[in-house]
Amino acid sequence: MKEIALYVHIPFCKQKCFYCDFPSYAGREGLEDDYINSLIKEIDIKCSDKVIKSLFIGGGTPSHLNEDNLYKLLNKLNCLSYIENAERTIECNPGTLTESKLRIIKDCGMNRISMGLQTTNNNLLKKIGRIHTIEEFCENYNRARQFGFENINIDIMFGLPDQSISDYEETLRGIIKLKPEHISCYSLIIEEGTPFYNMSERGILNLPKEDDERQMYKLTKDILEANGYHQYEISNYSKEGMECYHNKVYWKCEEYLGVGVSSSSYINGSRVKNIDSITEYIERICSGKDIYEDVVKNTAKEDMEEFMFLGLRMIQGINKDDFKNRFKKDIYDVYRSVIKENIKKGLLKEENNNIYLTDKGIELSNYVMSEFIL
Ligand code: SF4
Repeated sequence: MKEIALYVHIPFCKQKCFYCDFPSYAGREGLEDDYINSLIKEIDIKCSDKVIKSLFIGGGTPSHLNEDNLYKLLNKLNCLSYIENAERTIECNPGTLTESKLRIIKDCGMNRISMGLQTTNNNLLKKIGRIHTIEEFCENYNRARQFGFENINIDIMFGLPDQSISDYEETLRGIIKLKPEHISCYSLIIEEGTPFYNMSERGILNLPKEDDERQMYKLTKDILEANGYHQYEISNYSKEGMECYHNKVYWKCEEYLGVGVSSSSYINGSRVKNIDSITEYIERICSGKDIYEDVVKNTAKEDMEEFMFLGLRMIQGINKDDFKNRFKKDIYDVYRSVIKENIKKGLLKEENNNIYLTDKGIELSNYVMSEFIL
């Protein structure tokens, strides 16, 4: 049986955060029952002949599902075949977790929780549209520990409106005290179609200056590394041996299967994207039609580009032998001038058969990665 990483998309949220452009919707709970029934059908069709290497239930807010649906879905997923000790993550919003939901999550075999916090500052939490306070977060985090979860990720953000460097430092120091195994730190990006985008267009969003944001990035690295977290990807840090297996599948361009609306798959050399509409998804599954919006067979050139710019997100970078094994070509035959030039500019480094971004290269990562487009 084919081994694969599985992503499951839950498109419901209690409320939309002001910065979020993910495919998730508030106020659509009326569709939850039909959606979960359809999702289970898609899982039945696509997963019964697979062995799952890792499972990631994301969204949206999987923990916003009502208890019946949460149990139905997790119980179904728990009946699939897994490799031994497979990582099984569920994303949880602390404003939607309860003791009984945590019990269901634990009993159904999930072994990793990813909690969105973003900041420890209650004023900022309100300003960015989060539905929880830091106190609610801590209560749920501690409860998850009591339930025996030994692998927890906390998501935080920097570059938030009205966030000072010291606010951000407080967040970093606050979460370190909780000793999570994994921390993701992303900078706020203003995405079109979000309330923050409109506010920024109207000039009423007070974002930190570029220099301050750069300092926040540096602070993340300094404080987390001094406290036993190693950076293994541009925005991700973990305790030794606790890197997120599932995310590494994406960065290494390995195959994965996505189920649910808006999910993507990379399988047998094709990139597949499911449709976004929840109602259409339900209708199509019920009438036995396909649910694809896009199926694109990557060319060898596109595969190489993706391999380069996703691989360079990892701190260890690209292994030259991996490139050769995958594409039957020496990396220098394809990218000699780009690699040499960026090494000369101090943005890339080559060591022990690996090519990776330097600190300066990470700062200018978008530029460096764009250079690898053929
Ligand atoms: S909870 Fe997550 S998915 Fe939902 S709106 Fe907020 S950031 Fe987006």
